[in-house]
Amino acid sequence: MSKAGHGAGVPDFKHQAAAAVANRRLQEIFDRATRQKDDGRRAILPELGDPLAVRELAARIKDHTLENLDRYLEQFVGQVRGRGGQVHFAADGDQAKAVIVDIARRASAKLIVKSKSMVSEEIELNHDLEAAGFEVLETDLGEYILQLAGEKPSHIVTPVAHKSREDVGRLFAEKLGIEYTSDPPALTMVARRVLREKFRTADLGIIGANFAVAETGTVCIVTNEGNGRYCSSRPRVLICLMGLEKLLPRMADLPVFLKLLGKSATGQRITCYTSLITGPKRAGDFDGPEEFHVVLMDNRRSAVLGSDYMPTLRCIRCGACLNACPVYRKIGGHAYEATYPGPIGKVITPLLNSLEVYEHLPQASSLCGACLDACPVRIDIPTHLIHLRQELVRRGRSPLTFRLGFKGWRLGMSSRWLYRWGAMQARWFMWLISRNGWCRWMPSTGGVWTQYRDLPVMPARPFRVRWAALQKELESEDGGDAR
Ligand code: SF4
Repeated sequence: MSKAGHGAGVPDFKHQAAAAVANRRLQEIFDRATRQKDDGRRAILPELGDPLAVRELAARIKDHTLENLDRYLEQFVGQVRGRGGQVHFAADGDQAKAVIVDIARRASAKLIVKSKSMVSEEIELNHDLEAAGFEVLETDLGEYILQLAGEKPSHIVTPVAHKSREDVGRLFAEKLGIEYTSDPPALTMVARRVLREKFRTADLGIIGANFAVAETGTVCIVTNEGNGRYCSSRPRVLICLMGLEKLLPRMADLPVFLKLLGKSATGQRITCYTSLITGPKRAGDFDGPEEFHVVLMDNRRSAVLGSDYMPTLRCIRCGACLNACPVYRKIGGHAYEATYPGPIGKVITPLLNSLEVYEHLPQASSLCGACLDACPVRIDIPTHLIHLRQELVRRGRSPLTFRLGFKGWRLGMSSRWLYRWGAMQARWFMWLISRNGWCRWMPSTGGVWTQYRDLPVMPARPFRVRWAALQKELESEDGGDAR
């Protein structure tokens, strides 16, 4: 995806975003998809009675868990092991993938079915599993479509948000050899037939975790298609790959988040299927895995823990901030060239990867606050973005023109005469290059603004002069009245 001229693997956000903005069809698809979910969220949240109070409660539960993560991790691990499960720790993505490949080999697995998991996208798990010779099948409909298309998700909840049903119809006709149709129920039935057969023959299931309960060692997954339930109950071996931050202290905390997740993600009262998995199959159980493994992955989360950015670990990956974000709505998810797009992605991608490599992301925001307004766990994304920008300046990563511009601005703002002189020069210059009161072109850095927007010329009489004239006028009126 990187533009020629950029180093291999170096994100090229500016050009990707410009290409997305120029793609009218893509914008229509995203605009419709995100608005629908955002409207749904707004409409259903009042059912909570006092939505703000519930969201603040959720934030407090998450903060408490993160502040005591060592204790809750120990409790969770003890509970999983006590119920016959196995726990593996992975410092990073490579370790997590090595552990999972090893479990799959020892289980002599051939076919692996996967439920949707952003954390597996984060470490590109499928790539390593396939390289090790396993057949891997994504079973979430959106992820299955992407797997067929060889593409990456463009949204953390609805990964195929960038495709229309006509796109899916053409893809199924090409890859599955069916007759073209764009009828969603017909397309779903085709995918269902393929997936059902695979569920029956899979040796190993891989799931993520929406939440994990320390008190009982339970992993909770929610889906709208029931595929997570198949993945977790049918194969002989089950692996749950989860980030450290997914823990909740008690089972009693879970409903708070289940109520918020469905509403915030898709405007549903609650997600259709909620599965709670506590250890492997026990004697007398109708179904369930014989082996249950939990892979607890850090991947730089512990570096965020205890830092100013710790509240970002509250994130429940609901996607509400994406749906509310005016930037995401315009450019979609692929332009970010990161696993986590949108507002939360702009913060956690630099934190979990490298601020230098993703230095463009914290800048790609108008700081309008729509993400904070939408977030069910009250993550103050705009403030985190400002802090990341400050960090970039501290590390000397801001462009020379930017630094010189702000130095000049500071100088001008601290001297009345310099400010007036600068404003007069700017006014003259704008008159020179303007037509009908608008500047449609600017040289140098100013061109970044006029590339997408016109700039009105500065008024002939500055505010200061008009204000003084108005005051004089009022004073003379008062004088007249007094007479
Ligand atoms: S930051 Fe908030 S709104 Fe965005 S995905 Fe995470 S929980 Fe949802």
